[in-house]
Amino acid sequence: MRFELEPFNRSVSDEDLLSDLVTAAETLKAAGKSLTFRNYREVGKYGPSTINDRFGSWNNALRKAGLALAEEKNVPVDVLFDNLRLVWIAKGKQPVYRDMNGPPSQYTGSTYNARFGGWRKALEEFVATVTEEQELLTTPEARQPPKQTGRRTNRDPSLSLRFLVLKRDCFRCTACGRSPATHAGLILEIDHVIAWSKGGETIAENLQSLCFDCNRGKSAT
Ligand SMILES: [Zn+2]
Repeated sequence: MRFELEPFNRSVSDEDLLSDLVTAAETLKAAGKSLTFRNYREVGKYGPSTINDRFGSWNNALRKAGLALAEEKNVPVDVLFDNLRLVWIAKGKQPVYRDMNGPPSQYTGSTYNARFGGWRKALEEFVATVTEEQELLTTPEARQPPKQTGRRTNRDPSLSLRFLVLKRDCFRCTACGRSPATHAGLILEIDHVIAWSKGGETIAENLQSLCFDCNRGKSAT
């Protein structure tokens, strides 16, 4: 791989970046190639890192440009599992294969297939990992980090902990009972029962699932 500085592209508009992606996709398609980060470097006008930085991720940029996501290889399993957590949380239930091909998923179902040897296998490995995490996060040590170490937990729960709390609450708001599974687009958040600012720790026992509205006291119910 060549080592070179990216061109200075900060002043380029989003539209210019996206339209060059479309052009690059056509050029590559004619050559029988797909628009990956690496291939874009060969035919694109701009640095692929510039596009990544601007849109948050390569796949986000492709989506914005209206291009199909390429199947990506060698994505770390942790990253694929985090993506699966985010999709699961957004859906409020176990995602199906096609859920992975649209937002908020960053990786296609076929990426999971390729990595795990099938969608079902990917889910099985994911569930095994979550089960292990659940055991780790509910050990006496994990439940009482402040008393043991004298330090406080971080205010923001990790994605793993968020997922476990939501799973425990059946992906439903503990106040109004709604779930993204039954109310499309509902956003579930994690709330501290005893506020972190009042000494409440970021541990499963002090966390609850609330929807966006209930968490801001705006719910009609
Ligand atoms: Zn609610």
